[in-house]
Amino acid sequence: MKNEFQNMPENFSGVFLRSEKEYKKLIFVSSSIKKYFGFSSEEIIANPKLILKKINAAHYHDMKEFFRSLEKGFQSTVDFTVVKNANEKFLLRMRAIPQYEGNEVKYIDGIIFEVYDELYQKALLEESEKQLKILFETAEDLIFILDANGNFVLVNGNGALSLEYQTDEMRGKHILSFIDEPVKGAFIKSFQLLIASSTVQTFETKFQSKYGKSIIFELNARTIFDDQKKISGVIAIGRNSTSRNSLEDKVRDLSNKLVEARRIISVERDRAKQRISVLEELNRLKNEFVSNISHELRTPLASIIGFSETIDSDSSMPEDMKKEFNKIILEEAKRLANLINDVLDISKIEGGKIVLNKTEFDINEILKKSIEKVRAYAEAKQITLSADIPPETVLVYADEERITQLFENLLTNAIKFNIQEGRVTLLAQNLFKEYEVIISDTGVGIPAKDLPFIFQKFYRVSRPGTEIPGTGLGLALVKQIIDHHKGLITLQSEENKGTTLIIKLPLLNYQG
Ligand code: ADP
Repeated sequence: MKNEFQNMPENFSGVFLRSEKEYKKLIFVSSSIKKYFGFSSEEIIANPKLILKKINAAHYHDMKEFFRSLEKGFQSTVDFTVVKNANEKFLLRMRAIPQYEGNEVKYIDGIIFEVYDELYQKALLEESEKQLKILFETAEDLIFILDANGNFVLVNGNGALSLEYQTDEMRGKHILSFIDEPVKGAFIKSFQLLIASSTVQTFETKFQSKYGKSIIFELNARTIFDDQKKISGVIAIGRNSTSRNSLEDKVRDLSNKLVEARRIISVERDRAKQRISVLEELNRLKNEFVSNISHELRTPLASIIGFSETIDSDSSMPEDMKKEFNKIILEEAKRLANLINDVLDISKIEGGKIVLNKTEFDINEILKKSIEKVRAYAEAKQITLSADIPPETVLVYADEERITQLFENLLTNAIKFNIQEGRVTLLAQNLFKEYEVIISDTGVGIPAKDLPFIFQKFYRVSRPGTEIPGTGLGLALVKQIIDHHKGLITLQSEENKGTTLIIKLPLLNYQG
């Protein structure tokens, strides 16, 4: 072991201490030790405390810590300044040599003392300066030093490049000329705070690049002091946070979009719910219609079959009775045909297949005919049917058959939903541009809650206990006919008082 150290370089004054905690026993001291400590290697081997005496008293604490850490089995290195005389100092580095067992330090094999003279120290300094410079130049961040006036003294290449400058272009220029105009005020405030404090200050500012780009930097800056404790400048390191900010913007943008998407989804969900309830309502109306229409079909069919069978089975039936039965059969068959026609009509109109067969005719004639058609029905219920129709001819250009169907439907309803011995009145007036027909009855009326839906197909007012048969198609058909003629229909009704329907149709020469 001893021989290993004989060939050590001159400036290496190695001292090897063999362990098992025997730190004080020196094994080898190179002869160059004399140059530093003034004692020969033999003298130091004989009395190691001679070295301790030369160590700066300020390092005693560090030395104690070093030995304590050795006792705990830690690997350790410590540097001490050794004062040779007033002008000469040198560095004493103590390095522990650990013995490992696996990854763990088993014990300290010994300590190497290395002594470096000033030359060596200088080389070390240069080396570390070189490394620092590499670090400075390769750093992605903006690193700079300002003088006491705020001018750039030093700026790293990459930092300058991030502002689209060469370092030379920035050196000597005032930092404020690189700050984005709108934030200059805020920058000055942050800078004043920085100068007032001696600790590191962090603040964000916006630089303006050579070609006018705004670049946000988060600056960590600290003032530098000279020997007289006066501010000699500022050292700062800045991290480009533009991309971070734009990422934050993107995140904000995305979360806004997310909120909007959620809003749309909830609106769509509500719409879907509404659609479902409309579909459910339609389905309900359809089911009701199917049951109503079955009933409506079955009643006339039952009497047709019944009366035909009676005629067929009774050959001795008197002629007038046969006639009477045939009349009923015919009436019921007509009712059936009307019903089927209504259903077909509404689907035709809705399917856009209706072709109006328009001609010029006197609407008053149609009104009179319609009244005569329903008179028998009114009389059967002892209803007074009165009409006030202008005597003159009033020409319209319309589908005569449809208009007839319209008034017949309305008059039938006025009778059907009337009370026994009630009244139905029809008032027609020529308003010159249009013709107005008002049909009023003294019937059961329509509850207010049903009014908004009354022109919907299949819609029927539910009157438990006093159900009047029907399909809910009549008013829907009336509305369709009016619409196709560019007319207008309004309905007013009060429960148990009666209903009034006002129909307006354009006159010939005033067709829309
Ligand atoms: P339907 O008469 O075949 O039931 P409508 O479409 O003609 O079908 O009428 C729809 C509903 O409006 C009827 O069920 C009825 O309750 C109500 N209604 C129509 N006209 C009158 C009226 N003049 N008085 C009271 N209720 C009426």
